[in-house]
Amino acid sequence: MGTQTGSEAEAFYPSDEEIEKWMINAFKMARDALENGEVPVGCLLVHEDQVVGRGRNEVNQSKNATRHAEMVALDQLLDWCRQSSLDVKSVCERTALYVTVEPCIMCASALRLLNIPVVVYGCSNERFGGCGSVLDVSSANLPQTGTTFKCVSGHRAEEAVEMLKTFYKQENPNAPKPKPRKD
Ligand SMILES: [Zn+2]
Repeated sequence: MGTQTGSEAEAFYPSDEEIEKWMINAFKMARDALENGEVPVGCLLVHEDQVVGRGRNEVNQSKNATRHAEMVALDQLLDWCRQSSLDVKSVCERTALYVTVEPCIMCASALRLLNIPVVVYGCSNERFGGCGSVLDVSSANLPQTGTTFKCVSGHRAEEAVEMLKTFYKQENPNAPKPKPRKD
């Protein structure tokens, strides 16, 4: 993406209050995903105290395996930049992602390509995690693939894991509804 001028954006860290505030919303979105038969992941992209993108997983609804929460939110961010006539790179360099589950390899790569510097997430993603669990896309030395990003992990991790467990217990959400339980 463009030429690197050497003036790498300073990484910034959100405060505990900011994390608390934004993650509440990310978790609400994850719960909405769960209630709609989607992998329970929710996220927000926050630029200068303003939400510029939000998303929850919508793979089943869209029948498109790439529609992870982060991709949905990144598309909104790009629209927002277009509408505000702002440069994508300079916006992204000052934007943090708040997400309930560690971004997968695909999403971590997208975040690199868009130069998002900070990702706050809840639980780790044991199956597909791109921030250390399976691969370390977030910090790998890949000069042709955007910039590395910092991770702040563990916020309400247990709750995020519980939601994932609930989802995977339901098996295939596209399958017919199971028969009502006889008590
Ligand atoms: Zn993903």
